[in-house]
Amino acid sequence: MSLIVQKYGGTSVGSLELIQRVAARVAAVRERGDDIVVVVSAMGDATDRLLDLARGICPEPAPRELDALLATGEQVSVALLAMALEARGVKARSFTGAQVRIVTSPVHTRARIHRIETDRLRAALREGIVPVVAGFQGVDADGNITTIGRGGSDTTAVALAVALGADECQILTDVDGVYTTDPRMVPEARRLDRLSFEEMLELAGQGSRVLHLRCVEFAAKYNVPLRVASSFATGPGTLICKEERRVEAPVVSGIAFNRDEAQITVTNLPNEPLAIHRLLEPVSAASIEIDMIALTGNREGLTDLSFTVHRDDYPKALRLVRAAAAVFEGSTVSGDERVAKLAVVGVGMRSHAGVATRLFEALAAEGAAVRLVSTSEIKISVLIPEEQLEACVKRLHAAFGLDRPPESVALPIP
Ligand code: ADP
Ligand code: ASP
Ligand code: MG
Repeated sequence: MSLIVQKYGGTSVGSLELIQRVAARVAAVRERGDDIVVVVSAMGDATDRLLDLARGICPEPAPRELDALLATGEQVSVALLAMALEARGVKARSFTGAQVRIVTSPVHTRARIHRIETDRLRAALREGIVPVVAGFQGVDADGNITTIGRGGSDTTAVALAVALGADECQILTDVDGVYTTDPRMVPEARRLDRLSFEEMLELAGQGSRVLHLRCVEFAAKYNVPLRVASSFATGPGTLICKEERRVEAPVVSGIAFNRDEAQITVTNLPNEPLAIHRLLEPVSAASIEIDMIALTGNREGLTDLSFTVHRDDYPKALRLVRAAAAVFEGSTVSGDERVAKLAVVGVGMRSHAGVATRLFEALAAEGAAVRLVSTSEIKISVLIPEEQLEACVKRLHAAFGLDRPPESVALPIP
């Protein structure tokens, strides 16, 4: 008998009929004799609708109250799924994050899970009851309801799998696995059978929405095999696990992209690290994450700084940077929200040169205006104007041979 954690995303529980279908799948696991803990997201676009309600009251709602509101989405779906299970004769009990005691940091809307108390879940499992746990939410040490960032139910599931020592964590969603790129944008995208934690970390970190970044970090750190599969069709999905030795690992395994970034540029700064520090310090003090960053010397012997932040943080970051830049005479601050980032990712890059060359060849053919570049051992990402994103992703997908099975992919350099 094994213990599995299954997580069903918003579209998979988007209607009562779909919730019934999830209940049937969970029941099948119980009939097989396995133990199961289920994590669910809010129904369909419920979280977006709650956000709209909050913004209808004020543009920047108090984060504590926003969390109290957003957490209700998942409370609805756990209760309904527990009812659907009971109606089928499967013993089930819903739990909010606070009821489980998923203890998080006190940073509202982007809290981090610190600790999970497992007694109540284990007690339920011992009684043959299926715990149905609300994803995306927790409680801080003072008892305030917190949420852990959009898409965070994936992370709840992996954290529970770690805490309970589960045998597998399955992320069940509206695609039947992880593809070479978002199949909604590129119909030629192919499902990958396996992917290493490292590759998935880069893909998720670069914006591939299919898995929440923290969930992959947790899974990698604790070596919990993750399976992404369809919530309704049967099929093996994609297994994400430790890298296995492959003779010819594909140079590029996948392409991630996101439209969540915004660029801020400050020109004519003194050419010294302290100036950069003084500009960025207020941004990080506001818990705003800086992603890509570049410094370029300009003709006047001064430095231009360019960096990106999440689009949600953009107005605030721009305000903070404008205030900080005021002390540097002659500096200018500008920003652009219509940018997008794309990244090619693959462990095979470690041992193959020529990836950047091929990337820029394809981007040039598309006439892309590359604004920023950042690289790691297994990834190259570029910031481009948003309107060029789709064409560039499609061009790169073909240029790296991702539309063909790996065996027939030629390596870029002999
Ligand atoms: P859920 O609500 O189940 O959490 P998400 O919408 O968060 O589902 O994630 C699934 C979606 O991720 C898919 O519908 C797909 O459009 C998108 N996606 C982006 N990149 C990829 C990829 N490389 N492979 C598969 N799906 C991807
Ligand atoms: N309901 C939350 C969201 O829409 C969490 C999740 O779906 O994972 O972001
Ligand atoms: Mg998701």
